[in-house]
Amino acid sequence: MAIHTFSLSEGTDIFSGTTLGVMSNLDARVQDLIRFIGASPTSFHATVSLTERLETRGFTRLLMTDPWEELPAQGFVVVDGSVIAWRTPRRWSSASTGLRIIASHTDSPALKVKPNAGFDRFDSHQVGVEVYGGPQLHTWIDRDLCLAGRVVDIDGQVHMVHTQAFARVPGLAIHLDRGQRENFHIDVARDINVLISQVTAENGPIESVASGVEPDRIAGHDLFFVPSEAPAVLGLGAEYLASYRQDNLLSVHAGLLGFLAAERSDAVQVYAAFDHEEIGSGTVTGASGSLLEHVLRRLSAGFGASMDAHLAWLARGVAVSADVAHGIHPSRPDVHDPMAHAVLNGGPVLKVNAQQRYATDATTAAAWTIACRDAKVPVQTYANNSNILGGSSLGPLMAMRLGVRTVDVGVPVLGMHSVRELCGIGDQKLFARAVEFFLAG
Ligand code: ZN
Repeated sequence: MAIHTFSLSEGTDIFSGTTLGVMSNLDARVQDLIRFIGASPTSFHATVSLTERLETRGFTRLLMTDPWEELPAQGFVVVDGSVIAWRTPRRWSSASTGLRIIASHTDSPALKVKPNAGFDRFDSHQVGVEVYGGPQLHTWIDRDLCLAGRVVDIDGQVHMVHTQAFARVPGLAIHLDRGQRENFHIDVARDINVLISQVTAENGPIESVASGVEPDRIAGHDLFFVPSEAPAVLGLGAEYLASYRQDNLLSVHAGLLGFLAAERSDAVQVYAAFDHEEIGSGTVTGASGSLLEHVLRRLSAGFGASMDAHLAWLARGVAVSADVAHGIHPSRPDVHDPMAHAVLNGGPVLKVNAQQRYATDATTAAAWTIACRDAKVPVQTYANNSNILGGSSLGPLMAMRLGVRTVDVGVPVLGMHSVRELCGIGDQKLFARAVEFFLAG
C-alpha cells in the first residue's frame, strides 16, 4: 500500500488551493494563518513552520546543546515541538531592563498511534490509538484522517510524516444503535480504533508505510491521526474560519505576528510556543518544564548578569499566556456567565478565575488592558459560569515555574477541542496587534 506523503510545501499548496476562491480576498495575515494551520498538523510541524518564518526575518537559531559563545540580538531555539525566540535590547541594565513574554502552545488533541498498533478483524486492518489530550471524541468519528508526526530511525535520524487522508474511525449506523440520540456513549478501547485498509499486515506496520523507513530500522515514533480537511472561510460575510487546531495555533500564529511586528524596546522580548499543554505541560518541552527558564538564564548570562540580577529581572517581567477562549454559544447562553462572556469577532478575551486556573490578577489584567488601549483593540472579559469548573491553560504553570507575573488571554472560539473549531476572522488581527503593543511595553 502506497500512501502519498506531503512535503511541507506541497501541503501548503494543497491547503491554500482548496480555499482559493476566497483566499485572494482575504487579509494577507489570514491567508498566512490558513497556510500555517495546513502545514502544521502536529507540534513538530508547527516548529518547522515557525523556524521558516523566524529565519526569513533574520533570527539566528542556536542549539540548547551548545554553549552560547555569542548571543544574537534576534535568536531562537527549537526543541522537538517547542520554540523559544527572543529580541534583546541594545543595552542591559541590571536595575531596569524589563522582560515581556508572549507564550502559547503548539499541540492539540489528537489520536496517537500505540506501539504494536496494527490488528486485523473481519478483513479490516485497524490501528490502535491512545487519546492525546481531551478531544470531543464524537466529532472525530466518520472524519477523513491523515497521519502526521515523526519517526526516528536506528541511526537517530528524524523523519517527518504528513500523509494524505487514508483512514477513519467509522461510526455506527443509527439503525444499529437507536438510543444514540438520547444516550451517546463512547467506549474508547472498543470504539476508537482507526480503520486504515482491507489489506492486512503484509505491508508492514503503519509507521513504516507512512515514513518509508524499513520496519527493522524504526527505533521510535510520535505519530498522530489528525483530520485532513483544509481550513474553510465560512459565514455570509466571510467572517468565520473553521479548522482543526485553532486551539492553539491561533495563538501561536497571532503571537508570532505580534512578536515580529514589535519594535525593539528596553525590555527583552520573548516568544514561547510550548508543546504538551493538552496533556498537562509537565514535560521537558512543556510550560512546566525547564526550557524557558534555562533560555532566560542563558540570555541574562549573555549580558553578564549575576544570579541576583537575573532574579530581579524575572521579578520585573510580565508574561502573556495566550490560549483560545470560549466564545458564547448562541444556543447555550445558560453555560456562560450572564455578564462576563465573549462574542466571536468582538476582540481578544481577558480570562479571569478566582481559583487562579487563569494566572490573571489585577496588575497583569492592567498590563494587558493598557496594551489594548494603546493598540486601540477592544477587551472582552471572560469568567466561568459559577456552576461550571471550566478549563485552565499554561499561564499558571509557566508563572509558577518562572516567578514571572502572567495574564491569560486568547481569541474566542466555538467548539473548543472539536475536530473542527470555529473562530472569528477579525479577532486574529486584533490579537496580533495587542500582542505587538504588549511586547513593546
Ligand atoms: Zn489550548
